[in-house]
Amino acid sequence: TISMGIDSADAQTVVCAPGVKGDKVTRLSREGLTDFILSNISKTQELKDPFYVLDLGTVVSHMNKWTQSLHNVHPFYAVKCNPHPALLGALAALGASFDCASMAEIEAVLALKVPAGRIVFANPCKPEAHIKYAASAGVNLTTFDSVEEVEKIKRWHPECALLLRIKPPDDGEARCPLGPKYGALPEEVVPLLQAAQAARLTVAGVSFHVGSGVANTSAYRGAIAAARAVFDTATRLGMPRMHILNIGGGFSVVGSQFDEAAVTINAAINTYFDEELPARLEVISEPGRFFAETSFTLVTNIIGKRVRGNLREYWINDGIYGSMNCILYDHATVTATPLACTSNAANPTCLGAKTYRSTVFGPTCDALDTVLTEYQLPEMQVNDWLVFPDMGAYTAAAGSNFNGFKTSTIPTHIVITPATTGKQNV
Ligand code: PLP
Repeated sequence: TISMGIDSADAQTVVCAPGVKGDKVTRLSREGLTDFILSNISKTQELKDPFYVLDLGTVVSHMNKWTQSLHNVHPFYAVKCNPHPALLGALAALGASFDCASMAEIEAVLALKVPAGRIVFANPCKPEAHIKYAASAGVNLTTFDSVEEVEKIKRWHPECALLLRIKPPDDGEARCPLGPKYGALPEEVVPLLQAAQAARLTVAGVSFHVGSGVANTSAYRGAIAAARAVFDTATRLGMPRMHILNIGGGFSVVGSQFDEAAVTINAAINTYFDEELPARLEVISEPGRFFAETSFTLVTNIIGKRVRGNLREYWINDGIYGSMNCILYDHATVTATPLACTSNAANPTCLGAKTYRSTVFGPTCDALDTVLTEYQLPEMQVNDWLVFPDMGAYTAAAGSNFNGFKTSTIPTHIVITPATTGKQNV
């Protein structure tokens, strides 16, 4: 069974969370991040390596926001988005459950002493060895969208309950649509349910993902309506009553996207699942970006410079093959500010300073490794620092070791600022 409650958590709980415990956590005022970065830099002066700062206070704020707006929707954090143990541990302490895509992700969550019942193995096409592992670990909920997957699960994990992943009718102009790869088409629903029925597997409900970074949040409404139709189809086929609706991910904490999505989702659940609510329906979700994106700040060092007329070209020590792979894979746009200009008291070298058309390259020898073009920056020098905010989603998780610049070794410093918003303010 799925644990649905989110415990109220205070900063102390989060600091003592599994995955965080043992790490040095620095408490800061809301404005203290720049001072923290400066003090950290002064300690590691010779190396000038890039580093991340993870703010657990931001994670708490996001959980507050989630609980207030979607209090009937239990979040299973999508580990793929950023598997940093301190983020996972903090979310575990805040009562979240987890969406894992592989054996290694399940292991990472179980290592934090999170019960297996708080994991959904939300990969519709899994290697057989990973299914066997899920069976041995007691992870008993997974997604499927093919007859072949039914056969694999019947063979290796017949106790596993299934969620039929459907393709939403609309991808909501998502930044990363997932429909081309996953989700049963309407005409595939009956044969898939019948295959599960014949295999004597339990289909507990329906899942979908409207696409990561969805722009048009009405996509959730269409997908919830489509899920309702699948619940009805299962009843018509004489299957046991479905009771889980998994509305996937796609949420962004930046701007008003989440607020709009929450209004749409709450209304659609009331419209299409009014008979089941609240006792006979568990609504779950798989947010990744929502929790990770703004919780991490990346600090990089300028390792090279070239002046070509009015153009300034800089090289930094992280790039497209590292954290900024999000530009390619996640279609992200990154922003950068000189550290000197992020200071509380605006630095005179930035305030009103002349800016130049600038290009920022990553450190590898590939010209593709270009982070920013046509970007306005004040005159900077080798050894200055550039700060990239909102770098937690699909960044370090997918970076490589290309050219010997190892994303996996970029350290993360953990801070906690006072959480904002909501009942769980700390
Ligand atoms: N669930 C599944 C199955 C996914 O594939 C993804 C992202 O690709 C997520 C959840 C997380 O999505 P997001 O980060 O947009 O919330």
